[in-house]
Amino acid sequence: MEAKNTQGDERELTEAAVLDPQERFLDFLKSEKYRQRISQMAISGKTSLVVDFEDLLLADSPLAESLVKTPDEYLEHANRAALAQLQIEAPVYASEVEVITIRFRGLPETVHLRMLGSVHIGKLAMVEGIVVRATPVNPMVTRGAFRCKRCGNISYVDQTTPFLRAPLVCSDPACQRKGIFDFMQEETLFVDSQQIRIQERPEHLPPGQLPRSLNIKLVGRDIVDIARPGDHVATVGVVRAVAPTLPKVGKLRVFNLHIDANYIDILSKEPEAVLTSPEEEKQILELAKDPWIHRKVIRSIAPSIYGYEHIKEAIVYLLFGGVPKHLADINIRGTKHPANRRPRDSQISASSIRRQNRSPRSIYLWKGNNSSWLNSGCSKRTQRRNDLGSWSTRSSRQRRGLHR
Ligand SMILES: [Zn+2]
Repeated sequence: MEAKNTQGDERELTEAAVLDPQERFLDFLKSEKYRQRISQMAISGKTSLVVDFEDLLLADSPLAESLVKTPDEYLEHANRAALAQLQIEAPVYASEVEVITIRFRGLPETVHLRMLGSVHIGKLAMVEGIVVRATPVNPMVTRGAFRCKRCGNISYVDQTTPFLRAPLVCSDPACQRKGIFDFMQEETLFVDSQQIRIQERPEHLPPGQLPRSLNIKLVGRDIVDIARPGDHVATVGVVRAVAPTLPKVGKLRVFNLHIDANYIDILSKEPEAVLTSPEEEKQILELAKDPWIHRKVIRSIAPSIYGYEHIKEAIVYLLFGGVPKHLADINIRGTKHPANRRPRDSQISASSIRRQNRSPRSIYLWKGNNSSWLNSGCSKRTQRRNDLGSWSTRSSRQRRGLHR
């Protein structure tokens, strides 16, 4: 591979066009790092291989470029090459799984959600955002089995469209009728799928703008249910544009963008997921001995906001307060004060304190029609702009950098 890189650019390009991409992916996967990862797949029973995009870029940059430009074609080549390599490393396991998915981690450049546009359609891109919504994991048909009602023969149809497609004619050469087909669930291949919605990170938000969001489609047992609402994620995937269909009218001219994810990386977990180390535990126990500990806690709440000691103090008592219930068989921790659970007042400082202190996910505010509670101090008069698919507020107290 190195020898090829030393040749002239032009020669490299022509050579790149001549060489089979699958062979080049295979060459790349023969490196020690990925041979090891591939042989580990058989042991751990995985069907996907995570490849650091940087490694591919270093080993064969024209191939990496082609992958970004025409991912549909090159991802197929990569998957086939991975399967070929698995057949060498673990032939028995390879014959069991039949399909291997390569997942590429970390493109050199992140596209801001706001910048995503028509130039990215059909290309591989990496976007970052905060997960605001996640659907349950649903099984999706990848290969449907249909039984012909006339001859009983079963035809298999690979499914790529959003709708389940029956075969046009019976696959039995002796029958070939357009016959009525029965869907055979037991014979059908399913894969786990999930849809999540990510939203722009607050720090990428220009003043006075609503955060934008984007739907991400996840397919495959190894990438569904990894990201939960509140997680900050980076997703590598193919940008797709789909025309919304109106009943009885047809497809619209303006398309919607979404991403078919190839890989999803969680950049930061929510605070609850962080485990305390033994040292931290020791520190916490040490602090607990201090009779004036509550003063320290009060001072540590939203230190960037000057004053409001009485509010901060109230928040501390709300956070740690609550009367425990001692029942005959079980002890229940006291419920928090209701005012602390659902903030309603409109003082911006108070709400900032609250946000910093205990609502780190306060970016996701507008959820239901009437249940939307906004930290920004706007009352719940939100309205949905259906044409834009976004929310706006009608409050007179609307602030710059809405909801921030
Ligand atoms: Zn038939």
